[in-house]
Amino acid sequence: MAKIKVMDELLSNKIAAGEVVERPASVVKELVENAIDANSTSIQIELVEAGLQKIEVTDNGDGMVREDAELSFSRHATSKLSSEHELFRIRSLGFRGEALASIAAVSKIWMQTSTGIDRGTVLTMEGGKRILVQDGPLRKGTIIRVEQLFFNTPARLKHVKSIQTELGYSIDLINRLALSYPGVAFTLIHNGQTLLQTSGRGSLQQVAAAIYGTATAKQLVAFAAENEDFKISGLTTQPAITRASKNYLTVLVNGRWVKHFGLNRAIEEAYHTYLPIGRFPITLLSIELDPLLSDVNVHPAKHQIRISKEKELELFVTKTIREAIRSRQEIPKVQAPK
Ligand code: ADP
Ligand code: MG
Repeated sequence: MAKIKVMDELLSNKIAAGEVVERPASVVKELVENAIDANSTSIQIELVEAGLQKIEVTDNGDGMVREDAELSFSRHATSKLSSEHELFRIRSLGFRGEALASIAAVSKIWMQTSTGIDRGTVLTMEGGKRILVQDGPLRKGTIIRVEQLFFNTPARLKHVKSIQTELGYSIDLINRLALSYPGVAFTLIHNGQTLLQTSGRGSLQQVAAAIYGTATAKQLVAFAAENEDFKISGLTTQPAITRASKNYLTVLVNGRWVKHFGLNRAIEEAYHTYLPIGRFPITLLSIELDPLLSDVNVHPAKHQIRISKEKELELFVTKTIREAIRSRQEIPKVQAPK
């Protein structure tokens, strides 16, 4: 007798959730990236107990019509990709169409969304099952509230660390997203307390000041350079300002925060003789390249990336940052006339 069965969608979503939804911060990442993809200019993230009790993301983006709102929780349902051809030319943060399905499989969700034109929709889900769909207000944008994360996956819940540690992951994430999108106003609230607020008025320096403090932000040097394959820009500290961890290095490729060992090393290399061992700069490095030169479809969380001409890019980064910090250092300090 044959033994193989195709699993139902509820079960397969729950399994897929294991890769996408590791901890509260993974939910925050997916929801905020969706808000960014929906052209939001203002995104508020509210957490209760580091997101274990509640994660609520409110955006003022495009919103969804009823049909899309209902489809959005199905796996492989996406508005961002419709052909294989497009897969290699991705500009949006999402494209796999599985985040909402995965999050819904392991939590209780309330969503309100509207395009501001059609009727609004309120929808609730529990453990991947749709519970309710009804009319909602006509406010343009989307609010998604995720409660009781991992309520039906006890093993995953056990792996969650302390509130402080989990909150740390979300703060770190929002800091990086705020640096990546200075044109978006971010507000992060935890247990009723505002932890970060950016204006969304477009100045990277301002965002850096909100995150690192004004004194440190003043020490940041801007850099920018371009060759036929890559356009790079960003901010980096002068060698006098250092940190004890690489956590302050943020690398963006076409607006996506990625973890890339070679590019981190390229940044460090620029400081080669300037920094003591074990000390690192604060750097935001933004790289624009033809999507055909990169592949982000390495892991469902999309933190990893493969880049063609990687070595050339790394050398270019080192050279550009080194020149930026050198030129700043060589400028003689002129005393203001009394
Ligand atoms: P992906 O982002 O990979 O497309 P998701 O599961 O994260 O997959 O989202 C599914 C779809 O739901 C998106 O493609 C988008 O059309 C819609 N969506 C999700 N969040 C929002 C939002 N905040 N505003 C507007 N549309 C959204
Ligand atoms: Mg998404």
